[in-house]
Amino acid sequence: MKMFDLTGRVAIVTGGNGGIGLGMARGLAQAGASVVVAGRNAEKSAQAAGELEALGAKAAAIAVDVRDEGACRRLIEETIRRFGRIDILVNNAGINIRKQPQEYSLDEWREMIDTNLTSAFVLSNAVYPHMKAQGGGKIIDIGSMMSIFGASFTGPYGATKGGIVQMARAMAVAWAKDNIQVNCVLPGWIDTELTRTGRQNIEGLHERVLGRTPAGRWGDPADFAGIAVFLASPASDFLTGTAIPVDGGYSVQG
Ligand code: NDP
Repeated sequence: MKMFDLTGRVAIVTGGNGGIGLGMARGLAQAGASVVVAGRNAEKSAQAAGELEALGAKAAAIAVDVRDEGACRRLIEETIRRFGRIDILVNNAGINIRKQPQEYSLDEWREMIDTNLTSAFVLSNAVYPHMKAQGGGKIIDIGSMMSIFGASFTGPYGATKGGIVQMARAMAVAWAKDNIQVNCVLPGWIDTELTRTGRQNIEGLHERVLGRTPAGRWGDPADFAGIAVFLASPASDFLTGTAIPVDGGYSVQG
């Protein structure tokens, strides 16, 4: 369907070398986009780019630590140099350190804010002039159930995920006139490296998630291909500033 066709579009997916990011990258690639996989682990990123090429897409791996402003700005410039444009930015890279609020150090707080939130600000800020000059673009930010709820072990993480929703809303309002849509995806509990340790270490978490998720299962990275294509494509041109749960019903369970 033409409204979901991404042929000729260029996407950057931070953290696109694994988990939810790779699930989204696969969807974008299958819809025809060229995809830049941006992560720290060069080997994982090269492997992911190879996988996207095998799906028939153009792909590249560019090494970046999203905590580094200069590296984020170079990622945007390097993508323009190699692909000529950027239509889609997926701010997906993220980490979590699980502790009780009183146990965090300021360095841990800053690491999470820098990785999960400041990176999305810097990359969106750097991509804006290019998207504006091109006549539009799509920014997809990744929130969480912790954008909505509180958990005792996710203080700084929740702050980043609540913050990213509000940042996306402000950018959506500011940049609507430039035909740039900014939306958030709020994943439920998804089986990735990020949650595997939590699942092992937090007693009862696995069962609590299953019990509360109407779909009756943990999510899979493949569950994010469709929402990525939708939010990156002309099908969502009148949709901006939203925060869409992709959670098997977790957030509406009464
Ligand atoms: P993974 O741990 O599987 O993937 C995280 C990705 O982020 C990796 O590709 C990693 O690449 C990248 N990354 C982390 N730090 C940096 C950094 N400093 N610079 C560049 N890249 C970095 O996690 P998920 O796929 O689960 O998480 C993806 C997003 O989804 C995150 O924002 C997370 O908060 C969010 N989310 C996940 C949920 C879940 O249940 N899994 C639920 C709600 C939200 P590399 O190691 O190469 O740097």
